[in-house]
Amino acid sequence: MSATLIDGRAIARAVREEVAREVAAFTAQTGIVPGLATVLVGDDPASAVYVANKRRACVEAGMRDLHRHLPADAPEAEVVALIEQLNADPAVSGILLQLPVPAPLDGARLTGLIDPDKDVDGLTPMSVGRLVRGTPGLRPCTPAGVIELLDRSGVALEGAEAVVVGRSDLVGKPLLHLLLARNATVTACHSRTRDLAAVARRADVLVAAVGVPRLIGADAVKPGATVIDVGINRTDDGLVGDVDFDAVRAVAGKITPVPGGVGPMTIAMLLRNTLEAARLQHGRAAGRDPAGR
Ligand code: NDP
Repeated sequence: MSATLIDGRAIARAVREEVAREVAAFTAQTGIVPGLATVLVGDDPASAVYVANKRRACVEAGMRDLHRHLPADAPEAEVVALIEQLNADPAVSGILLQLPVPAPLDGARLTGLIDPDKDVDGLTPMSVGRLVRGTPGLRPCTPAGVIELLDRSGVALEGAEAVVVGRSDLVGKPLLHLLLARNATVTACHSRTRDLAAVARRADVLVAAVGVPRLIGADAVKPGATVIDVGINRTDDGLVGDVDFDAVRAVAGKITPVPGGVGPMTIAMLLRNTLEAARLQHGRAAGRDPAGR
């Protein structure tokens, strides 16, 4: 039997259409048009493409594109001043500092300066704290996209055995917390895990976020399990995931392809976060404190 494909492109499209409808309703109700300030420092071609895609999606969802571009040799003080200006600007709902930033700038330090209620990448220490505590806040886009894919594919998380392979700050760790918040029984695997296949085989929901082409083989998958492949690896055979798709699809119950699985969800969740950020700030301006501080 062959696993059912989880169509990330279709699900991402549905999320983007929903966000566009919710943006229109929010604007009609409050008079506020949510705005996303992408900040690109330098001219790295890959980063420029990512930022352009985010800006286009933002406009398509009915939000303002408030992009800012600084030269590669911008001194740290200039980047800091820009972030502070965007933090203070009520027209800016969300701020996204495109990483990596050119040396000698420190991307983690600069990201940490973003107002947590505008932190649409969910990467500031305050956003991480809110995630771990389970209080309202902005969650990192790719892990949030994984949860969205699971929910919209009817995969039950409560009580399920979830195994995440990879523990990066960007994907693996936040995803572990999101799964825990949904009452899954969560296991983290990484480069020092002994007998990865045996641990992964326990999973009802197996997520690979590693960056090693086809690391997860059929021997690591329980029959009928849901397999989510976050990996994006450029190989001589083209783009492949961390899962050996052809072998695993014969064993799994549901599986995401690469490309067309998790990838398209990241921008969809960025749009959702930008709207959520606009709501957080609107609540703050109205004297409510949705983040529970
Ligand atoms: P990182 O390199 O930051 O983290 C990789 C993780 O995998 C680490 O925790 C590492 O363990 C673990 N790991 C490495 N080798 C092995 C192994 N042989 N067995 C078990 N675990 C291993 O990667 P990211 O989390 O940033 O990205 C992971 C993948 O997801 C990449 O392919 C990336 O391109 C893709 N990605 C896709 C996105 C999207 O779809 N939009 C967004 C972000 C990433 P340890 O901690 O012990 O070193």
